[in-house]
Amino acid sequence: MPELLFALDSSKRFTDQEKVGHNRWHPDIPPVATVRPGQSFRVHCREWFDGAIRNDDSADDIRDAPLKRVHALSGPFTVHGAEPGDLLMVDILDMGPIPQEDSGPLAGQGWGYTGIFAKANGGSFLTDQFPDAYKAVWDFKGHRATSRHIPGVSFTGMSHPGLMGTAPSTALLATWNQREAALIATAPDRVPPLALPPEPENAILGTLTDAEFDRVAAEAARTAPPRENGGNQDIKNFTVGSRVFYPVYVPGANLSVGDLHFSQGDGEITFCGGIEMGGFIDLHVDLVKNGMQTYGVTENAIFQPGNTPPLFSQWLAFSGISVTLDGEQRYLDSQLAYQRACLHAINYLTRFGYQPEQAYLLLGAAPIEGRFSGVVDIPNSCATVYLPTEIFDFDVRPSTSGPIRIDPGRGAPKASMS
Ligand code: ZN
Repeated sequence: MPELLFALDSSKRFTDQEKVGHNRWHPDIPPVATVRPGQSFRVHCREWFDGAIRNDDSADDIRDAPLKRVHALSGPFTVHGAEPGDLLMVDILDMGPIPQEDSGPLAGQGWGYTGIFAKANGGSFLTDQFPDAYKAVWDFKGHRATSRHIPGVSFTGMSHPGLMGTAPSTALLATWNQREAALIATAPDRVPPLALPPEPENAILGTLTDAEFDRVAAEAARTAPPRENGGNQDIKNFTVGSRVFYPVYVPGANLSVGDLHFSQGDGEITFCGGIEMGGFIDLHVDLVKNGMQTYGVTENAIFQPGNTPPLFSQWLAFSGISVTLDGEQRYLDSQLAYQRACLHAINYLTRFGYQPEQAYLLLGAAPIEGRFSGVVDIPNSCATVYLPTEIFDFDVRPSTSGPIRIDPGRGAPKASMS
């Protein structure tokens, strides 16, 4: 086992640990450890809400999810010799849930969860059609997931970190804050919001205290969006075996990681997405000196995806085009086309007995594939979503005899009215 450089005690909150991580981006957040190029190391990660979501049959915790507390990140790790302009090469050697037999209170200890965020608290990709909070709890048996809230499916997780990245420079952070503030200013009262400005409340900034804490908390960027430093990219193929190259913006690079997903569908469409868990991840780091200029990787990370299973061979695909549900024609709107493809798949699955929310949660959690299939055929973009048919216990394909009806159980729990 590689040396454990960031240990978490599952019985304690993220802020009560021996080494305290962070939940904002800022160049002045102090590193928790130094690593050398060529070194492998293990990191524990808390699930992104630090234990606020419970293994029960109520979605009230998703409805009230403490969004100002995300993401609980492990790090930063400073890499000896890294300089701005280098590329930080990171290999994902291994990862998995919290290594403990019994089912415990923290997601990752034998279980994980997927939620649909309420429109009033985060929203999701299909928030107009699904404005209320729902939850599905998934049970892990080895690398396999099943859910008492979504009967009839089981699949092997393509586990990956939803979030990893390097610290921004002071100048890059200022750029983020300026451009995101300008977007927010176009509709400051929008629900859900267009973007999230810096938020000192619930900020966790490692060992910073007092005046330094207040200054950094007022400037530090939220962790929700992916940006030039990598960040919350939520790429389902970023599995064990992946090698990623991050731009380095500060001396030491200051690498951080978290938001582990047992599994996720392309797009993480329910937003409280994938199957969230805490766990461990083993990383190896190296440096490509001056790699940003050498390879032209100046705008964002590049990566070689992992090649871990499951590798499915049978799919059922749904297409969508850039026409709204009200029949309005839009011009090459791939976001809309992907929404229509997802709604198409959800509608189809209801014919087998699923409630729409169960189908939506399934698309967020299972390793479905999403593609922008056509982007030039005016006026319609064409997007497609692919369901691996092997994840279903029954034949989910259309046939001349009509759909089998499954027992949907009690359904996915919905939040009560707040
Ligand atoms: Zn996540």
